[in-house]
Amino acid sequence: MKSCLFVFIFIFSSLAANNLGHWLPLVNLLTNKEARPQAGPSEGEWAELSRYNQTLTLAEFEHLIEKVFSTDESWKKYLKISEDKKQLLVLTNNLGVVAIDFLETERGGTAPARYWRSKDTVVESKVGEQPNAKQPLSGLRIAIDPGHIGGVWAKTEARWFQINDEKPVTEGDMTLLTAKKLRGKLEALGAEVFLTRETATPVTSLRPEDFLMEVAERFPDLENQGNRFQRKMEFWFYRKAEIKDRGVLINQTIKPDLTVCLHYNASAWGNPKRPVLVNKSHFHLLITGAAMPKEWGDGEQRLALLHKLFQRAHKEELQLAKVTVPAFTKRTRLSGYVYRGALGNVNAMDRNAFIWARNLAALRMYQCPVLFCEPYVMNGKADYVHIQAGDYTGKRLINGELRPSIYEEYAAAVTEGIERHFTP
Ligand SMILES: [Zn+2]
Repeated sequence: MKSCLFVFIFIFSSLAANNLGHWLPLVNLLTNKEARPQAGPSEGEWAELSRYNQTLTLAEFEHLIEKVFSTDESWKKYLKISEDKKQLLVLTNNLGVVAIDFLETERGGTAPARYWRSKDTVVESKVGEQPNAKQPLSGLRIAIDPGHIGGVWAKTEARWFQINDEKPVTEGDMTLLTAKKLRGKLEALGAEVFLTRETATPVTSLRPEDFLMEVAERFPDLENQGNRFQRKMEFWFYRKAEIKDRGVLINQTIKPDLTVCLHYNASAWGNPKRPVLVNKSHFHLLITGAAMPKEWGDGEQRLALLHKLFQRAHKEELQLAKVTVPAFTKRTRLSGYVYRGALGNVNAMDRNAFIWARNLAALRMYQCPVLFCEPYVMNGKADYVHIQAGDYTGKRLINGELRPSIYEEYAAAVTEGIERHFTP
């Protein structure tokens, strides 16, 4: 069964001509309100899922979708396990169906087609080589994605606050500084490192004004609400277009074995010119998963999530996160972060609230394993002091403790996690 392992059925034209009994469950899918044709990936892009034929067992699929990738059963509106349990039937946004054949047993399957290499593959590729103690990461390709844009865009992307005339806190500039330190450390260990951006300049060539037509069309009620309309165009620029283009850069050009997304967390600070400082400091790592009902209903998200699931990035992400937690906590003594509220947009991946699955665009769209870091609280009283101390060499007294600069501390923790992960 190597050829024609996927099938498109254009329901309205050819369903009757096919074995109707076999596909009947899908007719029910089409009665769902959410399942109407919508703009999204082309049929050709959906057809690419066929490359995962015979790469994942049903049991593994069920585990991943139930425990990691979904927060409830809403995925079943768009994905169906065939009655003979041999295939996953995927509803496309054009109401076609792509079938992916499950692997029958763990043994004998082929690895899914993917540009990145698993930890095991990297370790195996070095068997027989003289161990290089000084450069344990040699041969590894790592992308670093400094979160946000910073610079003149920091206010636009709402990643800016300032207390009196003290140094403004701009997350996009802090992540870039951290990224450059991290690059130095990883290169010293032999890795080949790529940054998605080197300056406070967007990766996308689009700008907020480029979304004028789209926003006008999608949100007609915002038409006479100048500021809200402007904010919406900006959001589409810095959140949607920017991350999408970083995804293209990572998936099509860099093709790394791993991407590290660097962020600094914050609590709601209110007015950026009179920000609220809080008594909080915590840390967590995010990995891919926890898609909510509306997200499964979005063709683009559904397709990206399936690529991620079938490529089995999860195993890598979780293992890497698990060894990165102690690398952070021993340096910072930060505690985990508990997601509260009724959003239901996360799945807990450990018992101490350090690792969570979340369906963030970067996690979903970057096809390789991603480690998404959210340490510190920028408007937390203690971390704010650490940030205001700037970057420095050696250690200084910060809140009564000798600490390296926050950038140095962050980069060292991530480096240790990666080194531990890729060292047999
Ligand atoms: Zn961030």
